Amino acid sequence: MDYRGRQRRVAQGLDARRLDALLVTHLPNIRYLCGFTGSAGVLLVANGRSTFFTDGRYREQAGAEVQDARVVVPKGAVLDAAARVLADLRVRNVGLEGEHLSVAAAAKVARTLRTKARLRQTLGLVEDHRMVKEPAEVVCLRAAVRLGSSLFDKAVAAIRPGVPERAVAAELEYAARQAGADGMSFETIVAAGPRSALPHGLASAQPIPRRGFVVLDFGVILRGYCSDMTRTVHVGKPAAEARKLYQAVRDAQQAAIDAVRPGRAVGEVDQAARSWLRRAGLARYFTHSTGHGVGLEIHEPPRLARGQKEVLRPGMVITIEPGVYVPGCGGVRIEDMVVVTTTSCEVLTPTSKELLAV
Ligand code: ZN
Ligand code: ZN
Repeated sequence: MDYRGRQRRVAQGLDARRLDALLVTHLPNIRYLCGFTGSAGVLLVANGRSTFFTDGRYREQAGAEVQDARVVVPKGAVLDAAARVLADLRVRNVGLEGEHLSVAAAAKVARTLRTKARLRQTLGLVEDHRMVKEPAEVVCLRAAVRLGSSLFDKAVAAIRPGVPERAVAAELEYAARQAGADGMSFETIVAAGPRSALPHGLASAQPIPRRGFVVLDFGVILRGYCSDMTRTVHVGKPAAEARKLYQAVRDAQQAAIDAVRPGRAVGEVDQAARSWLRRAGLARYFTHSTGHGVGLEIHEPPRLARGQKEVLRPGMVITIEPGVYVPGCGGVRIEDMVVVTTTSCEVLTPTSKELLAV
């Protein structure tokens, strides 16, 4: 991974914002900038170089993982140590990650710096750089998607009337670990029957009914990178009405995929799915956004939602996941990951989208 290049680009972003230093406290951003995968640390980017502070538990790991940054293991708290170093640097404007630092921690940094520097909140500064993936990152994401997709058949095999949703999730998660996943990228969703109408129906103790949709939404983490996919299957033979609902979502998803191309605003991709469902008279049942970026985190910018102006660029990896949820009845969602190419996009998720009856 090109840590040096990433740090250089972030430093340029600081210049553009008239910041002299940035205190990076969000762990995925730290990993992105210097390779550290542990759970405690602060990265200080200032004066064209980086210093990584971590505690004694991570001395060895930091030594092995951190690249293009000096590693410091202070006696006390890492944030205090970083603030003290910052105070000695005589910088004027220091950026703090507004979305990833508590009010108490920011106040502590301010007390250490006193009048020596001014603290300013930054929003999405490193995340903006993470949106466009390097080729090596796309390789990791492809591998995560492949592993995730390989679990789908195992989950389907576990679906039977009377089996609790949680048991299906357990089979899937066990298979994920066996196949080499670091873990799941979020809590597995298995939502059956009327519960399929809950867009975020976490696998519950509820038994799978004899008939109806089952929404499976899951992902794995492999080498730090997340996968995310959703398929909806039907227990028993689907009636004409259910088939129609499924086909409408499938067509809306395809319309959104067809709308992905560099230079286009993400809001237009959302609009493509929404317009399709409006024509099918289902728009009011599509209650969330069309997709999101994926990478070191399961949800990253851009957000493919109504009116969002972020412009698609080659190398962005996003999900396309429209859904329709009819309260008390059932729901359908279909989700793929795609990578934006120089002309359109490539669908990474290889799993079939034919309606499967189990
Ligand atoms: Zn998902
Ligand atoms: Zn998703």
